[in-house]
Amino acid sequence: MNPIDRLTEAFEKFPGIGPRQARRFVQFLLHSQGTYRSNLAEDIKKLGANTFQCKACYRWSTKNGDTKGLCSICANPRREKSVLFVVEKDADIDNVEKSGFKGLYFVLGGVVPLAAEEPAKHIRAKQLVVRDERDGSELVLNEVILGLSATSEGDHTRQILTETLRPMSEGLNFKLTSLGRGLSTGSELEYADPDTIASALSSRN
Ligand SMILES: [Zn+2]
Repeated sequence: MNPIDRLTEAFEKFPGIGPRQARRFVQFLLHSQGTYRSNLAEDIKKLGANTFQCKACYRWSTKNGDTKGLCSICANPRREKSVLFVVEKDADIDNVEKSGFKGLYFVLGGVVPLAAEEPAKHIRAKQLVVRDERDGSELVLNEVILGLSATSEGDHTRQILTETLRPMSEGLNFKLTSLGRGLSTGSELEYADPDTIASALSSRN
């Protein structure tokens, strides 16, 4: 296969990108400067070498000193460790950070599709449970906030997580809450503005 077809195929694997858009990306690269292309290729290469997935919250982070496998948020002693904000994806965290949230996060890695027969395959529910147990045993976890999108798949995922976490929340004595009003139907956390998130956070229940 030639590089044009190979790259087109590679772009088609990106989320939300179809064959037509993939071809447009390749056309764009064909017309761009050689330095732009080599810088891009270099950055892609560095993604593997200079980044890691935080062992506590699973978000991707840039290596920055020895933080024992933890990202800058999880390694920060000033964060409120008793509140855990569960999000779908890394990009949600940037927005929640802007809303002024000071607790910790957990990245599910997606949502559960409505027709999924094995929900556990689509999200890191098991890892979340393990994390809760660990935090619970240290008696620090007071609340888990389910910060899922106001979409049908987000609702579905919230239901599954609530069923999974409820027995634990009773046993370990932490509150299980969801974002309140403010997030309009259909809206994803990634695109919500920080003020909206802040108000959804303050009206959580
Ligand atoms: Zn982390």
